[in-house]
Amino acid sequence: MTPVTTVTPGTPTDSASPAAVRLDGISKSYGDYYAVHDIDLDIAPGEFFSLLGPSGCGKTTSLRMIGGFTDPTDGSVLLGGEDVTGLPPDKRNVNTVFQSYALFDHLSVTDNVSFGLKRKGTPRAEIRERVGTMLERCQLDDLADRKPRTLSGGQRQRVALARALVNRPQVLLLDEPLAALDLKLRRRMQVELKQIQREVGITFVFVTHDQDEALTMSDRVAVMNEGRVEQCGTPEDVYEHPANRFVASFMGTSNLVPGTYRDGTVVIAEGPSLPVGTRPGITDGTRVSLSIRPEKIWLSDFEPGMALATGVLRETVYSGATTTYLIELAPGIILSVLEQNTARSRMEDRWSGGERVEFGWKPEHCLVLD
Ligand code: ADP
Ligand code: MG
Repeated sequence: MTPVTTVTPGTPTDSASPAAVRLDGISKSYGDYYAVHDIDLDIAPGEFFSLLGPSGCGKTTSLRMIGGFTDPTDGSVLLGGEDVTGLPPDKRNVNTVFQSYALFDHLSVTDNVSFGLKRKGTPRAEIRERVGTMLERCQLDDLADRKPRTLSGGQRQRVALARALVNRPQVLLLDEPLAALDLKLRRRMQVELKQIQREVGITFVFVTHDQDEALTMSDRVAVMNEGRVEQCGTPEDVYEHPANRFVASFMGTSNLVPGTYRDGTVVIAEGPSLPVGTRPGITDGTRVSLSIRPEKIWLSDFEPGMALATGVLRETVYSGATTTYLIELAPGIILSVLEQNTARSRMEDRWSGGERVEFGWKPEHCLVLD
Protein backbone atom coordinates (compact mmCIF):
# COMPACT_ATOMS: atom_id res chain seq x y z
CA MET A 1 0.00 0.00 0.00
CA THR A 2 1.36 3.35 -1.01
CA PRO A 3 1.29 6.17 1.47
CA VAL A 4 -0.41 9.26 0.14
CA THR A 5 1.94 12.20 0.03
CA THR A 6 0.13 14.44 -2.40
CA VAL A 7 -1.12 17.71 -0.99
CA THR A 8 -4.52 18.96 -1.98
CA PRO A 9 -4.55 22.75 -1.82
CA GLY A 10 -6.90 24.19 0.73
CA THR A 11 -6.89 21.18 3.04
CA PRO A 12 -5.12 21.09 6.39
CA THR A 13 -3.02 18.09 5.35
CA ASP A 14 0.66 18.74 4.72
CA SER A 15 3.12 16.44 3.05
CA ALA A 16 4.76 15.51 6.40
CA SER A 17 1.60 13.94 7.79
CA PRO A 18 -0.93 12.22 5.57
CA ALA A 19 -4.61 12.75 6.33
CA ALA A 20 -5.86 10.74 9.30
CA VAL A 21 -8.87 9.90 7.16
CA ARG A 22 -9.21 10.35 3.43
CA LEU A 23 -12.38 9.53 1.59
CA ASP A 24 -11.62 9.34 -2.08
CA GLY A 25 -14.79 9.44 -4.18
CA ILE A 26 -16.70 7.04 -1.97
CA SER A 27 -20.26 6.07 -2.75
CA LYS A 28 -22.70 3.59 -1.29
CA SER A 29 -25.72 2.60 -3.31
CA TYR A 30 -28.60 0.28 -2.55
CA GLY A 31 -30.00 -0.58 -5.97
CA ASP A 32 -30.59 2.75 -7.71
CA TYR A 33 -30.56 4.65 -4.46
CA TYR A 34 -27.38 6.40 -3.34
CA ALA A 35 -27.11 6.65 0.46
CA VAL A 36 -23.71 8.32 -0.07
CA HIS A 37 -22.75 9.87 -3.37
CA ASP A 38 -19.15 10.51 -4.42
CA ILE A 39 -17.73 12.07 -1.27
CA ASP A 40 -14.16 13.40 -1.08
CA LEU A 41 -12.87 14.40 2.34
CA ASP A 42 -9.52 14.87 4.04
CA ILE A 43 -9.52 14.85 7.83
CA ALA A 44 -6.28 15.99 9.48
CA PRO A 45 -4.58 14.18 12.38
CA GLY A 46 -5.92 15.45 15.71
CA GLU A 47 -8.86 17.17 14.12
CA PHE A 48 -12.35 17.23 15.63
CA PHE A 49 -14.36 16.75 12.46
CA SER A 50 -18.15 16.59 12.27
CA LEU A 51 -20.50 15.15 9.69
CA LEU A 52 -23.62 17.25 10.05
CA GLY A 53 -26.93 16.91 8.26
CA PRO A 54 -30.58 15.98 8.55
CA SER A 55 -31.74 12.46 9.26
CA GLY A 56 -31.19 10.12 6.30
CA CYS A 57 -28.51 12.23 4.58
CA GLY A 58 -25.87 9.49 4.79
CA LYS A 59 -23.89 10.33 7.95
CA THR A 60 -24.02 6.88 9.54
CA THR A 61 -23.31 5.18 6.23
CA SER A 62 -20.21 7.38 5.75
CA LEU A 63 -19.02 6.62 9.28
CA ARG A 64 -19.59 2.90 8.81
CA MET A 65 -17.47 2.97 5.65
CA ILE A 66 -14.63 4.61 7.60
CA GLY A 67 -14.97 1.97 10.33
CA GLY A 68 -15.19 -0.94 7.90
CA PHE A 69 -18.73 -2.00 8.86
CA THR A 70 -20.04 -1.16 5.39
CA ASP A 71 -18.15 -1.58 2.11
CA PRO A 72 -18.36 1.30 -0.36
CA THR A 73 -19.73 0.52 -3.81
CA ASP A 74 -17.18 2.97 -5.24
CA GLY A 75 -14.09 4.85 -4.14
CA SER A 76 -11.60 4.23 -1.37
CA VAL A 77 -10.98 4.88 2.31
CA LEU A 78 -7.47 5.75 3.49
CA LEU A 79 -6.37 5.88 7.10
CA GLY A 80 -3.04 7.58 7.82
CA GLY A 81 -2.22 7.33 4.13
CA GLU A 82 -2.93 3.61 3.93
CA ASP A 83 -5.70 2.22 1.73
CA VAL A 84 -7.95 0.18 4.02
CA THR A 85 -10.89 -0.26 1.63
CA GLY A 86 -12.21 -3.78 2.05
CA LEU A 87 -10.40 -4.45 5.36
CA PRO A 88 -12.64 -5.59 8.23
CA PRO A 89 -13.17 -3.28 11.26
CA ASP A 90 -10.70 -5.14 13.50
CA LYS A 91 -7.91 -4.62 10.95
CA ARG A 92 -8.34 -0.82 11.16
CA ASN A 93 -6.90 1.30 13.94
CA VAL A 94 -10.30 2.85 14.53
CA ASN A 95 -12.81 2.65 17.37
CA THR A 96 -16.48 3.49 17.31
CA VAL A 97 -18.77 4.91 19.99
CA PHE A 98 -22.38 4.21 19.10
CA GLN A 99 -25.39 6.11 20.32
CA SER A 100 -26.57 3.01 22.21
CA TYR A 101 -23.24 2.81 24.17
CA ALA A 102 -23.25 -1.01 23.86
CA LEU A 103 -21.68 -1.56 27.29
CA PHE A 104 -21.37 -4.97 28.97
CA ASP A 105 -23.95 -4.86 31.74
CA HIS A 106 -22.48 -7.71 33.79
CA LEU A 107 -19.02 -6.10 33.92
CA SER A 108 -17.91 -3.24 36.16
CA VAL A 109 -16.85 0.10 34.71
CA THR A 110 -13.18 -0.87 35.08
CA ASP A 111 -13.75 -4.21 33.35
CA ASN A 112 -15.70 -2.56 30.54
CA VAL A 113 -12.85 -0.14 29.94
CA SER A 114 -10.18 -2.86 30.25
CA PHE A 115 -11.94 -5.24 27.88
CA GLY A 116 -10.19 -4.31 24.62
CA LEU A 117 -6.71 -4.22 26.12
CA LYS A 118 -7.18 -7.61 27.82
CA ARG A 119 -8.32 -9.14 24.56
CA LYS A 120 -5.21 -7.82 22.82
CA GLY A 121 -3.06 -9.41 25.54
CA THR A 122 -1.68 -6.14 26.86
CA PRO A 123 0.44 -6.74 30.04
CA ARG A 124 -1.56 -6.42 33.27
CA ALA A 125 0.47 -3.59 34.77
CA GLU A 126 0.08 -1.55 31.58
CA ILE A 127 -3.69 -2.20 31.52
CA ARG A 128 -3.99 -1.01 35.12
CA GLU A 129 -2.05 2.16 34.37
CA ARG A 130 -3.83 3.04 31.12
CA VAL A 131 -7.31 2.26 32.43
CA GLY A 132 -6.64 4.24 35.63
CA THR A 133 -5.53 7.29 33.66
CA MET A 134 -8.50 7.07 31.31
CA LEU A 135 -11.05 6.67 34.13
CA GLU A 136 -9.62 9.76 35.75
CA ARG A 137 -9.66 11.72 32.52
CA CYS A 138 -13.30 10.82 31.91
CA GLN A 139 -14.18 11.52 35.58
CA LEU A 140 -15.11 7.91 36.25
CA ASP A 141 -12.58 7.05 38.98
CA ASP A 142 -15.24 7.15 41.71
CA LEU A 143 -17.49 4.84 39.69
CA ALA A 144 -14.85 2.23 38.82
CA ASP A 145 -16.62 -0.69 40.57
CA ARG A 146 -20.17 0.14 39.52
CA LYS A 147 -22.17 -1.78 36.91
CA PRO A 148 -23.38 0.23 33.89
CA ARG A 149 -27.07 -0.18 34.71
CA THR A 150 -26.55 1.75 37.98
CA LEU A 151 -25.16 4.75 36.08
CA SER A 152 -26.85 7.79 34.58
CA GLY A 153 -26.95 8.36 30.81
CA GLY A 154 -24.08 10.83 30.93
CA GLN A 155 -21.94 8.48 33.01
CA ARG A 156 -22.61 5.54 30.69
CA GLN A 157 -21.68 7.75 27.77
CA ARG A 158 -18.35 8.52 29.45
CA VAL A 159 -17.71 4.79 30.04
CA ALA A 160 -18.30 4.12 26.34
CA LEU A 161 -15.89 6.92 25.50
CA ALA A 162 -13.21 5.73 27.96
CA ARG A 163 -13.53 2.18 26.65
CA ALA A 164 -12.86 3.37 23.11
CA LEU A 165 -10.11 5.89 23.92
CA VAL A 166 -8.09 3.53 26.11
CA ASN A 167 -7.21 1.55 22.96
CA ARG A 168 -5.53 4.69 21.58
CA PRO A 169 -7.11 4.38 18.15
CA GLN A 170 -5.81 6.54 15.32
CA VAL A 171 -9.35 7.69 14.78
CA LEU A 172 -12.44 7.63 16.98
CA LEU A 173 -15.80 7.49 15.23
CA LEU A 174 -18.78 8.79 17.20
CA ASP A 175 -22.32 8.33 15.90
CA GLU A 176 -24.65 10.80 17.66
CA PRO A 177 -23.20 9.79 21.04
CA LEU A 178 -25.03 12.56 22.92
CA ALA A 179 -28.44 12.25 21.26
CA ALA A 180 -30.00 10.27 24.14
CA LEU A 181 -29.06 12.85 26.79
CA ASP A 182 -31.29 15.68 27.93
CA LEU A 183 -30.36 19.14 26.74
CA LYS A 184 -28.57 20.35 29.87
CA LEU A 185 -26.42 17.25 30.20
CA ARG A 186 -25.76 17.24 26.47
CA ARG A 187 -24.37 20.78 26.66
CA ARG A 188 -22.07 19.78 29.50
CA MET A 189 -20.92 16.61 27.74
CA GLN A 190 -20.18 18.63 24.59
CA VAL A 191 -17.68 20.71 26.53
CA GLU A 192 -16.22 17.66 28.32
CA LEU A 193 -15.92 15.62 25.15
CA LYS A 194 -14.12 18.45 23.39
CA GLN A 195 -11.73 18.83 26.35
CA ILE A 196 -10.95 15.11 26.38
CA GLN A 197 -10.37 15.14 22.63
CA ARG A 198 -7.88 18.01 23.00
CA GLU A 199 -6.05 16.21 25.79
CA VAL A 200 -5.70 12.87 24.01
CA GLY A 201 -5.11 14.41 20.58
CA ILE A 202 -6.95 11.60 18.76
CA THR A 203 -8.79 12.39 15.52
CA PHE A 204 -12.54 12.46 16.13
CA VAL A 205 -15.11 11.97 13.40
CA PHE A 206 -18.35 12.99 15.02
CA VAL A 207 -21.81 12.50 13.53
CA THR A 208 -24.66 14.77 14.56
CA HIS A 209 -27.85 16.28 13.18
CA ASP A 210 -27.60 19.14 15.68
CA GLN A 211 -26.13 22.33 14.16
CA ASP A 212 -25.32 23.92 17.53
CA GLU A 213 -23.51 20.81 18.64
CA ALA A 214 -21.41 20.71 15.47
CA LEU A 215 -20.59 24.42 15.68
CA THR A 216 -19.63 24.22 19.36
CA MET A 217 -17.36 21.21 19.16
CA SER A 218 -15.77 20.96 15.75
CA ASP A 219 -12.59 22.21 14.14
CA ARG A 220 -14.30 21.59 10.81
CA VAL A 221 -17.74 20.53 9.70
CA ALA A 222 -18.97 18.78 6.55
CA VAL A 223 -22.60 19.70 5.94
CA MET A 224 -24.33 16.80 4.20
CA ASN A 225 -27.55 16.56 2.26
CA GLU A 226 -28.95 13.62 0.30
CA GLY A 227 -25.71 11.66 0.32
CA ARG A 228 -23.47 14.55 -0.70
CA VAL A 229 -21.26 17.06 1.06
CA GLU A 230 -22.75 20.50 0.41
CA GLN A 231 -19.96 22.39 2.16
CA CYS A 232 -16.92 21.63 4.27
CA GLY A 233 -15.21 24.24 6.42
CA THR A 234 -14.70 25.72 9.88
CA PRO A 235 -17.83 26.39 11.93
CA GLU A 236 -17.42 30.07 11.11
CA ASP A 237 -17.12 29.35 7.36
CA VAL A 238 -20.27 27.31 7.13
CA TYR A 239 -22.24 29.60 9.41
CA GLU A 240 -21.12 32.98 8.07
CA HIS A 241 -20.54 32.00 4.44
CA PRO A 242 -22.93 29.21 3.56
CA ALA A 243 -22.20 27.96 0.05
CA ASN A 244 -25.81 27.54 -0.96
CA ARG A 245 -29.45 27.67 0.06
CA PHE A 246 -29.42 24.32 1.78
CA VAL A 247 -26.49 25.19 4.06
CA ALA A 248 -27.87 28.67 4.76
CA SER A 249 -31.18 27.31 5.95
CA PHE A 250 -29.82 24.23 7.70
CA MET A 251 -27.20 26.10 9.75
CA GLY A 252 -29.58 27.77 12.16
CA THR A 253 -32.16 30.31 11.26
CA SER A 254 -31.51 32.41 8.23
CA ASN A 255 -33.81 34.74 6.38
CA LEU A 256 -34.21 33.67 2.76
CA VAL A 257 -36.00 36.50 1.01
CA PRO A 258 -37.01 35.89 -2.62
CA GLY A 259 -36.49 38.71 -5.10
CA THR A 260 -34.87 39.82 -8.32
CA TYR A 261 -31.27 41.02 -8.47
CA ARG A 262 -30.91 44.41 -10.16
CA ASP A 263 -28.01 46.84 -10.00
CA GLY A 264 -26.69 45.98 -6.53
CA THR A 265 -30.09 45.51 -4.95
CA VAL A 266 -32.54 42.69 -4.41
CA VAL A 267 -35.92 43.95 -5.55
CA ILE A 268 -38.86 42.42 -3.71
CA ALA A 269 -42.17 42.27 -5.57
CA GLU A 270 -44.61 44.70 -3.89
CA GLY A 271 -41.87 45.48 -1.38
CA PRO A 272 -38.69 47.43 -0.85
CA SER A 273 -35.42 47.15 -2.80
CA LEU A 274 -32.70 45.91 -0.49
CA PRO A 275 -29.14 47.11 -1.24
CA VAL A 276 -26.71 44.17 -1.15
CA GLY A 277 -23.64 45.61 -2.90
CA THR A 278 -22.50 44.69 -6.40
CA ARG A 279 -22.36 40.97 -7.06
CA PRO A 280 -20.14 40.44 -10.10
CA GLY A 281 -21.26 36.82 -10.59
CA ILE A 282 -24.95 37.67 -10.90
CA THR A 283 -26.60 39.26 -13.93
CA ASP A 284 -29.41 41.79 -13.64
CA GLY A 285 -32.87 40.26 -13.71
CA THR A 286 -31.83 36.96 -12.09
CA ARG A 287 -34.28 35.48 -9.57
CA VAL A 288 -32.37 35.17 -6.28
CA SER A 289 -32.77 34.55 -2.57
CA LEU A 290 -31.25 37.05 -0.23
CA SER A 291 -29.85 35.27 2.79
CA ILE A 292 -29.19 37.19 5.97
CA ARG A 293 -28.97 36.04 9.58
CA PRO A 294 -31.52 37.47 12.02
CA GLU A 295 -28.71 38.66 14.33
CA LYS A 296 -27.05 40.64 11.51
CA ILE A 297 -29.97 43.03 11.16
CA TRP A 298 -30.07 46.20 13.25
CA LEU A 299 -33.11 48.07 14.49
CA SER A 300 -31.38 51.11 15.98
CA ASP A 301 -28.05 52.95 16.27
CA PHE A 302 -27.37 52.56 12.53
CA GLU A 303 -23.82 53.14 11.38
CA PRO A 304 -22.69 55.13 8.33
CA GLY A 305 -22.57 52.96 5.20
CA MET A 306 -25.32 50.61 6.33
CA ALA A 307 -28.19 49.80 3.99
CA LEU A 308 -31.61 50.76 5.33
CA ALA A 309 -35.19 49.80 4.52
CA THR A 310 -38.55 49.67 6.24
CA GLY A 311 -41.25 47.12 6.87
CA VAL A 312 -44.24 46.57 9.13
CA LEU A 313 -43.63 45.02 12.55
CA ARG A 314 -45.96 42.04 12.83
CA GLU A 315 -44.79 40.21 15.92
CA THR A 316 -42.47 40.57 18.90
CA VAL A 317 -41.35 37.27 20.45
CA TYR A 318 -39.62 37.59 23.80
CA SER A 319 -37.36 34.62 24.71
CA GLY A 320 -35.47 35.76 27.79
CA ALA A 321 -31.96 36.59 26.61
CA THR A 322 -33.16 37.55 23.14
CA THR A 323 -36.16 39.05 21.42
CA THR A 324 -37.20 38.21 17.85
CA TYR A 325 -39.02 40.77 15.74
CA LEU A 326 -40.94 39.65 12.68
CA ILE A 327 -41.06 42.36 10.06
CA GLU A 328 -43.27 42.07 6.97
CA LEU A 329 -41.57 43.36 3.84
CA ALA A 330 -44.30 42.48 1.35
CA PRO A 331 -47.43 40.35 1.58
CA GLY A 332 -46.26 37.02 3.06
CA ILE A 333 -42.56 37.92 3.12
CA ILE A 334 -41.35 38.10 6.70
CA LEU A 335 -37.90 39.10 7.89
CA SER A 336 -36.86 37.84 11.30
CA VAL A 337 -34.58 40.05 13.41
CA LEU A 338 -32.90 38.88 16.59
CA GLU A 339 -31.72 41.24 19.30
CA GLN A 340 -29.88 40.48 22.52
CA ASN A 341 -31.69 41.76 25.57
CA THR A 342 -29.00 43.57 27.50
CA ALA A 343 -29.30 45.49 30.73
CA ARG A 344 -29.80 48.62 28.68
CA SER A 345 -32.24 47.46 26.03
CA ARG A 346 -35.93 47.20 26.64
CA MET A 347 -37.04 46.86 23.05
CA GLU A 348 -40.39 45.35 24.01
CA ASP A 349 -41.37 48.69 25.48
CA ARG A 350 -40.70 50.44 22.23
CA TRP A 351 -43.17 48.87 19.84
CA SER A 352 -46.54 47.28 20.16
CA GLY A 353 -46.79 45.91 16.61
CA GLY A 354 -48.42 47.06 13.40
CA GLU A 355 -46.20 50.10 12.96
CA ARG A 356 -43.67 50.73 10.21
CA VAL A 357 -40.08 50.26 11.45
CA GLU A 358 -36.70 50.94 9.94
CA PHE A 359 -34.02 48.27 9.84
CA GLY A 360 -30.42 48.30 8.70
CA TRP A 361 -27.71 45.82 7.63
CA LYS A 362 -24.22 45.75 6.25
CA PRO A 363 -24.20 44.55 2.64
CA GLU A 364 -21.21 42.28 3.37
CA HIS A 365 -23.40 40.29 5.78
CA CYS A 366 -25.87 39.21 3.15
CA LEU A 367 -25.51 36.45 0.64
CA VAL A 368 -27.22 36.45 -2.71
CA LEU A 369 -28.06 32.87 -3.73
CA ASP A 370 -29.38 32.10 -7.17
P1 ADP B 1 -28.15 9.31 8.60
O1 ADP B 1 -27.19 8.61 9.52
O2 ADP B 1 -27.61 10.57 8.05
O3 ADP B 1 -29.49 9.52 9.25
P2 ADP B 1 -27.94 6.90 7.02
O4 ADP B 1 -26.52 6.90 6.59
O5 ADP B 1 -28.28 5.98 8.15
O6 ADP B 1 -28.42 8.37 7.34
O7 ADP B 1 -28.86 6.50 5.80
C1 ADP B 1 -28.82 7.19 4.57
C2 ADP B 1 -29.88 6.63 3.65
O8 ADP B 1 -29.56 5.32 3.26
C3 ADP B 1 -31.26 6.56 4.29
O9 ADP B 1 -32.23 6.95 3.37
C4 ADP B 1 -31.39 5.09 4.66
O10 ADP B 1 -32.74 4.71 4.65
C5 ADP B 1 -30.59 4.42 3.56
N1 ADP B 1 -30.01 3.14 4.00
C6 ADP B 1 -29.13 2.98 5.01
N2 ADP B 1 -28.79 1.69 5.15
C7 ADP B 1 -29.50 1.00 4.22
C8 ADP B 1 -29.60 -0.40 3.86
N3 ADP B 1 -28.89 -1.33 4.49
N4 ADP B 1 -30.45 -0.69 2.84
C9 ADP B 1 -31.15 0.27 2.20
N5 ADP B 1 -31.09 1.57 2.48
C10 ADP B 1 -30.28 1.95 3.48
MG1 MG C 1 -27.47 8.01 11.52
